[in-house]
Amino acid sequence: MERVYNFSAGPAVLPVSVLEQVQAELLSYNGSGMSVMELSHRSSWFQQIIDDAESLLRELMNIPDNYQVLFLQGGASLQFSMIPMNLANRQKVAYVNTGSWSEKAIEEAEKIVGLQVKVVASSKENKFTSVPQIPATSDEFDYLHITTNNTIEGTCYFSAPTNSQVPVIADMSSNILSSEYNVADFGLIYAGAQKNIGPAGLTVVIVREDLIAESKENLPSMLDYQLQAKNGSMYNTPPTFAIYVAKLVFEWIKELGGVAAIEKLNRQKAELLYTYLDKSTLFSSPVEPNSRSLTNIPFVTGNEALDKKFVQEAEKANFVNLKGHRSVGGMRASLYNAFPIEGVQALIEFMQKFAENEGEI
Ligand SMILES: *Cc1c(COP(=O)(O)O)cnc(C)c1O
Repeated sequence: MERVYNFSAGPAVLPVSVLEQVQAELLSYNGSGMSVMELSHRSSWFQQIIDDAESLLRELMNIPDNYQVLFLQGGASLQFSMIPMNLANRQKVAYVNTGSWSEKAIEEAEKIVGLQVKVVASSKENKFTSVPQIPATSDEFDYLHITTNNTIEGTCYFSAPTNSQVPVIADMSSNILSSEYNVADFGLIYAGAQKNIGPAGLTVVIVREDLIAESKENLPSMLDYQLQAKNGSMYNTPPTFAIYVAKLVFEWIKELGGVAAIEKLNRQKAELLYTYLDKSTLFSSPVEPNSRSLTNIPFVTGNEALDKKFVQEAEKANFVNLKGHRSVGGMRASLYNAFPIEGVQALIEFMQKFAENEGEI
């Protein structure tokens, strides 16, 4: 069975060794005679899995003890609502607009009755091809929300803003565990799992305990961080299979040497592609060099018909899911942790041949 090079932005490529372990254990997990999918979430088998997943993530991200790690459902998109519902006290919150996902987060916050949502920085004027500088955020706000990696536009903040007087909340859906961040710089970090962690259906939330010390009045139970934390992410049935696969992915990252080692690899992969794009007379990157993402790399030929032809031919050569997001067009190569460097090298060779055939000198 031949595997393709899968450049999907999410759900995305997983490590082959993880998939093989899932396969090997699928019918009987750890001698239980049951699949992980069939285990009770209250069994000691599953309790061990979720405990291991949490402690591995704590170790990989160096998460301080005063942070809770939650395994929730509803995707990153539900966090767009849960964050203001749980963390807005003074009814004023700050957002940075760096693209489609930030805009969705802003839209959901604006639906909270009585909440004033202020966009304190935006790169909309230059079509989100860079990330804006973030001005000092005063304590009139409850929090400052940023998107560390903009999956669709291919831009990234590689560290938290240092001039915020209020907790920084980060949507890290597309670059959690891809490069190092200092968790203590953030009040809350969240990520849908299907890009860099595991299967869809799991959302990871890392939140400073003092921010969720008290449940807000009339908050629906499932949307209450405090209640979820108190119940060890098992207020109801958690996405058990997704948590199990996430645990295997965390083990895989640890074996590779942790996030620092993975970041080094990711930098090599991205550097290869950006270097080629900057050199090519056919393909180019629309993103300003110092805002460029390591995990999502959009590129264009400048000719829509040619972009389409490229995507079609690439697909035939087993380079799949290279079509850019419908909102920006062109192409996008998502190079998450599990994407192999050989795939980047092979893609570049393919692009070179394509360019030659199109008459590139
Ligand atoms: C994919 C993505 C989302 C949406 O994730 P869901 O889990 O599908 O809700 C939100 N933010 C960013 C940055 C993303 O990449």
